[in-house]
Amino acid sequence: MGDVPIEVVVFLGILGLAVGSFVNVVIVRVPSEESLLHPPSKCPLCETPIKPRDNIPVLSWLLLRGKCRACGEPIPAGYPLVEAANCVLWVAAALRFGDSWAVIPFLLLFSTLLAQSVIDLELYRLLDRITFPVLGVSVVLIAVIGAIEGEPSRITMALLGAVGYFLFLFIPAMVYPKGMGLGDVKLALLMGLFLGWVHPVLCLYAVIVASVLGLVAGVILYFARGRKSSQFPFGPWLALGCVVVLLASNTILDFYGLPTAPFLA
Ligand SMILES: [Zn+2]
Repeated sequence: MGDVPIEVVVFLGILGLAVGSFVNVVIVRVPSEESLLHPPSKCPLCETPIKPRDNIPVLSWLLLRGKCRACGEPIPAGYPLVEAANCVLWVAAALRFGDSWAVIPFLLLFSTLLAQSVIDLELYRLLDRITFPVLGVSVVLIAVIGAIEGEPSRITMALLGAVGYFLFLFIPAMVYPKGMGLGDVKLALLMGLFLGWVHPVLCLYAVIVASVLGLVAGVILYFARGRKSSQFPFGPWLALGCVVVLLASNTILDFYGLPTAPFLA
């Protein structure tokens, strides 16, 4: 960090906005098994196709004051929020990992975690149809980039993290299935892969941060809903814990004097 060119950060920030639009398409279409590419974006209410000038991330929503140009019905604020969140995640990834090719799989991870988190908040599900293809692509990217950076054996750290984080969550999911779904456990394979790539010990930190965030959110929700306990998903907290720990990983590893690969430092 610090030696990432500003051009890289700005470029990935703008690209992150555009990819944020695609993340919205994933969130809307993958749960109902629709095609990602066809048909082009339509207003969900009047089904009028959205013109390119009305499809600029965040900006179009603001200019249209959150209403469809054709029917005037409100467009949910979730759309520009997802685009903005993806932009922030990509800028953060650029600042932390943008001085090596390693940034590419991290961008994929962050957008995947964003999509899965929103789907989990809306549907209480994490989709295998997202987790497993991204897991496959990530293993290949991590293996190839490790080889390019002259550390081909680094993939073993990543696989160790994947298996380790999977077991961390698999055991409690077996003991107390109400507390955690198998979707969370499968997503842990993907998160553990990346945490382990930087250093396997980060899996432990991610699960602690996720549990603390989830617990605090659960307590706030419990009181906000008049002391009624209610279902709420753990996936977004696991995702947030993973992102926070990856972004703070240099500080955590420096504190314990643990090494990572130079291209991931
Ligand atoms: Zn409309």
